[in-house]
Amino acid sequence: MSFAIPFADRLNNVETSAIRELFKLLGKPGIISFAGGFPDSAMFDVEGIREAANAALNEEPGAALQYGATEGYLPLREQLAAFMASKGAAEVAPEQLIVTTGSQQALDLLGKTLISPGDKVIVEGPTFLATIQCFKLYGAELISAPVDGNGVRTGELERLIEQHKPKFVYLIPTFGNPSGAMLSLERRQKVLEMAVRHDTLIVEDDPYGDLYFGDAPPPSLLALSATVPGSRDRLVHCGSLSKVLSPGLRVGWMVGPADLLAKATMCKQFSDAHTSTFAQATAAQYLKAGRMPATLARVRQVYAARAEAMVQALRSELGDAIDFVPPQGGLFVWARLTGADGRVADGAELARRAIDRGVAFVPGAPFFAADPDHATLRLSFATADEDRIREGIARLAQAL
Ligand code: PMP
Repeated sequence: MSFAIPFADRLNNVETSAIRELFKLLGKPGIISFAGGFPDSAMFDVEGIREAANAALNEEPGAALQYGATEGYLPLREQLAAFMASKGAAEVAPEQLIVTTGSQQALDLLGKTLISPGDKVIVEGPTFLATIQCFKLYGAELISAPVDGNGVRTGELERLIEQHKPKFVYLIPTFGNPSGAMLSLERRQKVLEMAVRHDTLIVEDDPYGDLYFGDAPPPSLLALSATVPGSRDRLVHCGSLSKVLSPGLRVGWMVGPADLLAKATMCKQFSDAHTSTFAQATAAQYLKAGRMPATLARVRQVYAARAEAMVQALRSELGDAIDFVPPQGGLFVWARLTGADGRVADGAELARRAIDRGVAFVPGAPFFAADPDHATLRLSFATADEDRIREGIARLAQAL
């Protein structure tokens, strides 16, 4: 007789994502994919990482291959503190951050340490799909705050904070996934002031902040918090090497108030004991060797050209059938179908038609925790070169 696995109730809150189903179709030969959230593997600094891994094994084999501290490998924490200082967050000591297995684990640890079933959490609409699913797994009731071309609308956000008194607010202020939006400096200031005024914890998830195409974005909430008294005590910042160096290394980090980091460290201990010491020692050697600035310059240049190719192609091929704000960084164009001239205005419907024409992208609706906008779509320009991008957008126009 078949056996029914006695799953935990918490799984009732989450289903496998619609996007995962779409990914099954990507194996079709010849398909041009704008669907993934990946950086381009052709951009990995393989030589630099090889040298860093060799240095880790030559100089510190015991540390690189042994169990390590749950908080993270101290030389890496020092390098990460210096990396953040180079971006304006000057006074974060290595002890004020913990290393996580990707920033995804930081999100999971926040769920574990902060969310009890029924707790309210405010996220952006749209926001990172894995965050929605992770927080729901811990029983959060998610409230969606509207976003425009300048990021989350702070007036609406403040109203929602007053109304719902959330456990915390989760934001991706810089080149968010999927919105690509960049929160303006003025709004960043407002978010931090709001945190203090309403005694609300803010989580800043920042895996894309280094991937800007022109001018640098405004300082992170973490960097700005130095100028807003009291805000640092109410702020968590999650960083990641995934988008700029390698997601396979699984190196992320979390800066936050000491008591929160202590509880998160305890939970991490029960989860994976620590992030791979070999990956941490390799990342530390990579940063120490001073390779990051050149790597960042290279990836910014390549993604900027691809973003530009996609923006131009969308404008010339789709015209007024699509509406979007050209991204200033990150990996995504977030767009809305206008339905002009009676054309398709449903992202999921267009995604199905597009697969038949040999191009894939992700419909936008699943990225909303509430009130999905079905006319939206997310197009990643990261993994196809400019010619393939132009060809892919031409196919998209046919599908439309
Ligand atoms: N946050 C956001 C907004 C992301 O887009 C991603 C990766 N897609 C992550 C966190 C997790 O990245 P990682 O675990 O590789 O650091």
